Amino acid sequence: MGKIKQLDELLSNKIAAGEVVERPASIVKELVENAIDANSTRIDIEVEEGGLSRITVIDNGDGIESDDLLTAFQRHATSKIKHENDLFHIRTLGFRGEALPSIASVSKVEMKTSTGKDAGNQLSIHYGKVVNQRKTDSRKGTTIEVTHLFHNTPARLKHLKTVHTELGNITDVINRQAMGHPKVAFHLKHNGKTVLKTPGSGDHLQVIAAIYGMSVAKKMLKVKNETLDYKIEGFAVKPEINRASRQYVSLFINGRYIRNFKIYKAIERAYHTLLPIGRHPIVVLSIELDPILVDVNVHPGKLEARFSKEEELSSAIEEGIKQALKDTELIPQAPSKTFTAKPKTEQSTFQFDTSRQDIISRFQQSDNDKDALKDESIRSSVDWKRAEEAVQDVSEEDHALFSKESTTVYTRENREVEPEQDRSAVEDVPHDAETSRVPSMYPVGQVHGTYIIAQNEQGMYIIDQHAAQERIKYEYYREKVGQYEHEVQELLVPLTFEFTHTEASIIREHQEQLASIGIFLEPFGGNTFIVRSHPQWFPNGEEQETIQEIIDQVLADKKSDIKKLREDAAIMMSCKGSIKANRHLRQDEMESLLHTLRKAEDPFTCPHGRPIIVQFTTYEMEKMFKRVM
Ligand code: ADP
Ligand code: MG
Repeated sequence: MGKIKQLDELLSNKIAAGEVVERPASIVKELVENAIDANSTRIDIEVEEGGLSRITVIDNGDGIESDDLLTAFQRHATSKIKHENDLFHIRTLGFRGEALPSIASVSKVEMKTSTGKDAGNQLSIHYGKVVNQRKTDSRKGTTIEVTHLFHNTPARLKHLKTVHTELGNITDVINRQAMGHPKVAFHLKHNGKTVLKTPGSGDHLQVIAAIYGMSVAKKMLKVKNETLDYKIEGFAVKPEINRASRQYVSLFINGRYIRNFKIYKAIERAYHTLLPIGRHPIVVLSIELDPILVDVNVHPGKLEARFSKEEELSSAIEEGIKQALKDTELIPQAPSKTFTAKPKTEQSTFQFDTSRQDIISRFQQSDNDKDALKDESIRSSVDWKRAEEAVQDVSEEDHALFSKESTTVYTRENREVEPEQDRSAVEDVPHDAETSRVPSMYPVGQVHGTYIIAQNEQGMYIIDQHAAQERIKYEYYREKVGQYEHEVQELLVPLTFEFTHTEASIIREHQEQLASIGIFLEPFGGNTFIVRSHPQWFPNGEEQETIQEIIDQVLADKKSDIKKLREDAAIMMSCKGSIKANRHLRQDEMESLLHTLRKAEDPFTCPHGRPIIVQFTTYEMEKMFKRVM
């Protein structure tokens, strides 16, 4: 007698449930996806105890016909694919026909559904067995309630985390669905309290406001780009707001939330030098494409998607975001947090606390942003605490660290721009300013030998002189690196560099790359190399160190291409030549610096992504001193 036999349906559903419905959040995801696939415009999700006690999803979608009622709970039963070929044209979120039977096999499910045409049906299934079926009213849509989750699979139950963690996972699921489907009104409640509410107006920004808070929504830039195959639309945040993880990058392919490493990289390239190292932007992008170009048929629990023409998509995204960032002024306004968070200064100086109402009313004043507040319901669901946390301020420690990077006293820029010439340029500012993204402003003084205070009609600005200089230098070197040919400086005494055997062989491989930025290493026996010349524009008096650091970069990053090497070299050199903090600047030096900064391509952050300018609007100052209410 053979030992192999076919599993019965109930058992195979239970096994499938192990993959499809791992935890409450995955059940919520499956149920909500079904509601979306059924063309619902409003979906209410109620959960109790992180979904462990109860999950209810109520939609106003197509409903299930009487004839399909029981079939829906059979394994591999779906209304979404009919032919093999359909698998390559999937536009729905579900298609495997596994969710309902899997969920029903590990819980008690109560379903009420109607197509709205005639009487509806109510069905009770306990751990995969139908226990009751009867007719009900004909409200169009479907309600599914899941209780006693995993009571028949205690090992799984034990595996679950705290209510808090499970609720977090559920919230993530709903946030994503809401961002991917702005036309659907979502309402998530936990233990009777609203966690998220979106208006379903089709406006992405309203959904972003509901999830990340109004202050984040206010700082979002519209992203749009199109290629033959892809239509990209969404929002990317101004770099002043950033987060510690990539979690805040949300990508949707035809409404389906996906993860894709190459796209994350493209987004990071778009923000390059605008964000501090290790910080990530908030980005929400919807990508529309012919389903034939993407394979969504990967593991149901996984969110990765495979694309054909991935390169095309990545560069279209990079370009779209770069454009959005380029089109705007990126000066952050002084965060109110700076004043309230530092207890030492609390007594001695003013304190201005931006209250909710204040933020709301300020937001309402702005014409552009008015739309995002149309719906009263969003306003109440905005998580203000989270929104406020998002506002980053530069801590003092950061600054101290930053100043240490610099070793030379600023001289170069003064030599390059004649003060005479420069002063007239500053006087001219309002006229030649059209192309600059930094408004014209006049320095009024310097604080701690570190910050320049400037003003104009719009308010007061604080400029980190070191960061500003670094940005200017960086753009200068970035252009210079690569044009070494015409400006070579011969050394009287060649510089000598010694390496280990392994290092020497890596260097030999990269000799050409190094030559392309003007470093010509000549073998000098064994693992020693000498350098007889260097580009003229190398930071003065630091040739040996500069060359050594560039070589170190090559050694550390063996695969690096020329582009990256040039980039790194430019950043490194920009640190070297910049003004240290604690250096007094004359009025003409400050004017010259601001003038040059305004001409920079990216005048808002230093190459390490730290902010250069912070603004206090005139309105904000008037508020601080209670001149306006
Ligand atoms: P899939 O979504 O992969 O098709 P499911 O097991 O999730 O498989 O659902 C089975 C079928 O039940 C669906 O194809 C759909 O026809 C129907 N269905 C499930 N949920 C709903 C709902 N909320 N509204 C309308 N039909 C639904
Ligand atoms: Mg489904």
